Amino acid sequence: MSIIDRLSEYFAHFPGIGERQARRFVYFLLRAENGYVKDFLESIVALKKNVARCKSCFRFFESADKELCALCASSATDQSLLMVMEKDSDLENFAQSGTYRGRFFILGGLVPITEKDTEKKVRAKELLAAAQSAAASGLKEIILAFAASPQGEHTESYLRKILAPLSIKHGLKISSLGRGLSTGAELEYTDPDTLKNALKNRS
Ligand SMILES: [Zn+2]
Repeated sequence: MSIIDRLSEYFAHFPGIGERQARRFVYFLLRAENGYVKDFLESIVALKKNVARCKSCFRFFESADKELCALCASSATDQSLLMVMEKDSDLENFAQSGTYRGRFFILGGLVPITEKDTEKKVRAKELLAAAQSAAASGLKEIILAFAASPQGEHTESYLRKILAPLSIKHGLKISSLGRGLSTGAELEYTDPDTLKNALKNRS
């Protein structure tokens, strides 16, 4: 296999990138200045070296050997709320919207509708552990914040089921975002006003 083919295969594995686009990336690199390519390579190495998952919310952050991200370590974070989301980009969009000051938890995916091995696909066990320990430090409500899609709804009903015993034991409220969100809406692309309304109308 030629080096051009090999590198194209790497790019073709990126989310949303087809084979033709992948080849365009390779030719872009061939035309780019040497300094640009060197910086690009160094950034990839630094990414794997300096970015880790937060031990509490499981999002990626620049760790510098710390265990908790800035949101989890901050004393300004509202400990009574825990928002469960699919992925990092959802969390970033919600955190930037400035409408929510509570804690977060990244589930790491959606629960497949037909799958049996759910625990291997998402952080269900980790969520239960996080909710259990948060309940001891003032947690009052868990907000399920997923895309308004069949799989998003399936994920919420699955989580409601596994969280039910904890909810009863500690008197935790389990809520879902209000569905002012349009069908299929991805939280990572939703604007701040819509997020604010979805949060306000949660039930
Ligand atoms: Zn964190």
